[in-house]
Amino acid sequence: MILEEPITGVPLVKNFIDGEWVESKGEIKDVVNPAKYEVIAKVPISTKDEIDAAVEAAKAAFPDWRRTTPVARARCLFRLKELLEEHFEEVSRVQTQEHGKTIDESRGETRRGIENVEVACGIPTLMMGYNLEDIATGIDEYLIRQPLGVFGIIGPFNFPFMIPLWSAPYAVATGNCVVIKPSSEVPLSQMKIAELVDEAGFPPGVWNVVNGGRTVVNGMLDHPDIRGIAFVGSTPTAKDVIYRRCGETGKRVIAQGGAKNFMVIMPDANVRATVASLMTSFFGNTGQRCLSGANLLIVGQDDEFYNSFMDAVADTASRIIVGYGLDESVQMGPLRDKEKKEKVIRYIESGIAEGAKIRLDGRKFKVTGGYPDTCFLGPSIFEDVTPDVKIGSEEIFGPVMSVMRAKNLDEAIEMCNANPFGNGHAIFTSSGKSAREFQYRITSGNVGINIGIVAPMAFFPFSGMKDSFFGILHTQGQEAIRFFTESKVVIQRWL
Ligand code: NAD
Repeated sequence: MILEEPITGVPLVKNFIDGEWVESKGEIKDVVNPAKYEVIAKVPISTKDEIDAAVEAAKAAFPDWRRTTPVARARCLFRLKELLEEHFEEVSRVQTQEHGKTIDESRGETRRGIENVEVACGIPTLMMGYNLEDIATGIDEYLIRQPLGVFGIIGPFNFPFMIPLWSAPYAVATGNCVVIKPSSEVPLSQMKIAELVDEAGFPPGVWNVVNGGRTVVNGMLDHPDIRGIAFVGSTPTAKDVIYRRCGETGKRVIAQGGAKNFMVIMPDANVRATVASLMTSFFGNTGQRCLSGANLLIVGQDDEFYNSFMDAVADTASRIIVGYGLDESVQMGPLRDKEKKEKVIRYIESGIAEGAKIRLDGRKFKVTGGYPDTCFLGPSIFEDVTPDVKIGSEEIFGPVMSVMRAKNLDEAIEMCNANPFGNGHAIFTSSGKSAREFQYRITSGNVGINIGIVAPMAFFPFSGMKDSFFGILHTQGQEAIRFFTESKVVIQRWL
């Protein structure tokens, strides 16, 4: 049974500027539900004037919002949290409709997004500074945290609801104002959040949403009144566009990039639990997660272990039900669009051409429910992959598992560390010694020990190393509070 779709008709997405829903003068693009391959909304590619207007509104709202007490700011966030809970099922279904992920994956995304609002509700304590009496006789010193002004928040297509919430609640809780640019492929979740922000009673101009593409991003990067950018997306954009340009214009920046995560399997791993974990890691969200498993690295020279482990992996993957995510029995949805599916197919072809053995071919899967197969692919598994071939080294961002072998843990760690990305590697083992060695030496910002998707909770930073992250402070929790505030030090003496 297909759950009811919350988006009906073909609404035109508007921008949310200064507390008003404003129609854009920009070019209009289709928003497509990838499972049904039908247009479900229209989204504008906003103009430079429109991003300028949003920054202007945010700048004008800042002085009063900054003077609003942290307790009162937190109350707006508490109301937003309540409204998000009330609309939990609706906003989850919107994610499935616009992105294609299964309804359970969407519910998980909604929960993770709301958790960031919950953490930001603690702003009166989280934003506290510190002090020391008598740094010299009769002199005290203290640190206070102050907001900076206007921040730009730029999201990718793969978590349309959650990712802007890694930053926005902390930015506004600390007294800043934000302009959010969602991915134009999936603008509907942020539209729904902005409706609830409006209802929650945030003053006009504190939370703005401008839809579009490069013009909006460039407008943010060039704008002198934008003090910093929190970006999540691919490495080329993170590094060559966002990080570089923020350096040139003196903006603070968080730039989270792409990934190629290794799942390292020791011969003493618990096979049943590990295989179950690998299915969601490699094929959950149709492989479109920055924390998805990409390379499966099996350690040891025991062919018997290797063969029985791979039989279990391939057999379980071959039974994954692929279809429309609003059908609760479906376990894997489509790729976000036709172009992304074609890109993954090119990787599958390159794997075959470069000599890897295709054990499971996702091109041959059947879609349940009779939906057009335009954006669908099943899970694929390649064996005999080496780290130098394209499917073993580049981010595919689709449901493809590349299986490699390593003689021992040392070699496995070297192989992981030789890859330029460092987002979410994991080890599966029953040995504390192996786990500790892995944790100690691996160059990955998030590390899993018997965990296949290493997604940090909202009160921990969403980390990342090497080509997966550019910056110092991260999104979420305490690090986000520090990113969105200046540290001001006061030294006082009263004569
Ligand atoms: P993307 O880089 O194509 O786009 C991200 C955002 O940047 C979008 O809003 C887009 O409109 C904008 N953009 C794209 N190219 C631009 C350009 N040249 N100039 C200015 N703006 C530009 O990324 P995507 O395809 O939307 O998202 C998938 C990528 O995001 C994957 O690489 C994935 O690993 C990564 N990702 C990383 C994390 C993380 O936490 N590290 C989380 C989720 C996704």
